[in-house]
This record gives sequence, structure tokens and C-alpha cells, in this order.
Amino acid sequence: MDVTAHGRTDVGRQRERNEDALLVRTRVFAVADGMGGHRAGEVASATALGPLEALDAATFADEDAARTALVEAVLAANRAVATRAQDEPDLEGMGTTLTAVLVQGGTAHVAHVGDSRAYLHRDGRLLQLTDDHTLVQALVDQGRITSDQARVHNSRSVITRAVGVGAELEVDVLAVPLEPGDRLLLCSDGLSGVVDDAGIASVLAAHPDGDAAAAALVDVANAAGGPDNVTVLLLEA
Ligand code: MG
Repeated sequence: MDVTAHGRTDVGRQRERNEDALLVRTRVFAVADGMGGHRAGEVASATALGPLEALDAATFADEDAARTALVEAVLAANRAVATRAQDEPDLEGMGTTLTAVLVQGGTAHVAHVGDSRAYLHRDGRLLQLTDDHTLVQALVDQGRITSDQARVHNSRSVITRAVGVGAELEVDVLAVPLEPGDRLLLCSDGLSGVVDDAGIASVLAAHPDGDAAAAALVDVANAAGGPDNVTVLLLEA
């Protein structure tokens, strides 16, 4: 199954630089949200996408092989970002989220680290596929705060897992058997941090055209104040 991709990235209304990055190829797609001083965040997100590009031209014997290759590419991204952070003093401490999709046959393999998200929009319903690797999500999981409290919590931007900050990295992976009409949405927290799931779902429902939907999602984040860089990548099966 082929998917059609509609990607947008925007600096937002309050930041001077865009540290998000996105990758759009034929079968490989990703969103990365970099962090670090000066230009380090931009370097981190761009560097992390490099190892994923090579997957686009690869062939895989089966779904297990595709999934393994996707995880290996994320681990290679981790090494690439960590190496640059070590070698270049300006880049010390940088890191990035990474949410990536490899489409193989009729399956979307999703790999995920950090607080960018993947959602599935199917039959008018929006399902969050990924768990945020954040301090506030841990508090939600423990029942100490609600999701609505998490959205406005002072520590909401603290992530507990990132690409490029350590030698070891645990990568979440999942497989989504695609159905015709499915929409997969990858986004940075510049969208999901300011627009709740109901808001995202209503924008998707209102825009059957993928390009218009992607543009409208950026617009709604900016209309809500645009506090952060916002990146959306809409994949349509
Ligand atoms: Mg962000």
C-alpha cells in the first residue's frame, strides 16, 4: 500500500527559530523536535533524520526485518547525535525527539522516542498511538494528575527519553495494519501541547483534503498562541 504525505513545519508565534524537522520520502516519514542551546536543537533534529533516509530504498524480507531495520536506524540516529554533541562544544547536551514511520506492505511500523506523537484517524475517531516520554505523563500514569492538568503543568516540557543524550536508548515500536482511508498523523508538541485530541479530530474531520488538513492543524496551533514550533505530517492510506 502506498501512502500520500502532507507535511508542514512552522516556527510558531513565539519562537525565533524552528528546531523541528521532518522527513518525507516514499515509505519513510519522521518528525523530530530538537532541543539544546543556540543552534544545537536544529542540528540535533536534522542529524537524527539522516540514518532514516537510507531505509527508503531498502527492501525487507518480511515485517520483522522492516521493524528491526527501523529500530536500528533510530539507534544509529542516537549515535549520530550523541557523537556530534560530544565532538562539538557548541552542541553539548543537545538531543531530539523522534517519531518515525516505515511503511512496508500494508503495515505502518512506528518507532518513537520523546514527546512528539503519532495518531491514527480512522472512521472519524482519533487514537493516540504513542505514549509521551515525559515527566507529566508519568504523573498521569501514576494517577497523580489528569491529562488536562498535564497540558498546563509547569514541567510539561520535561522529557524523560530523547535521541542523542545517552549511549543506551529504549525505542518504542508498534505496527499498524493500514486500512484504506486511514490517516496517520505525526506531530511535534507544538500541536499536541496546545490543541487537545478533540480539537485535532475536528480539524481532520473538517478537511478531507490532506494538504488543507495539514495547513489547518498548523493554523489552529498558531491561533492558540503558537507557543512552540509546530510540525505536522499527515499520511493518508
Ligand atoms: Mg516542541
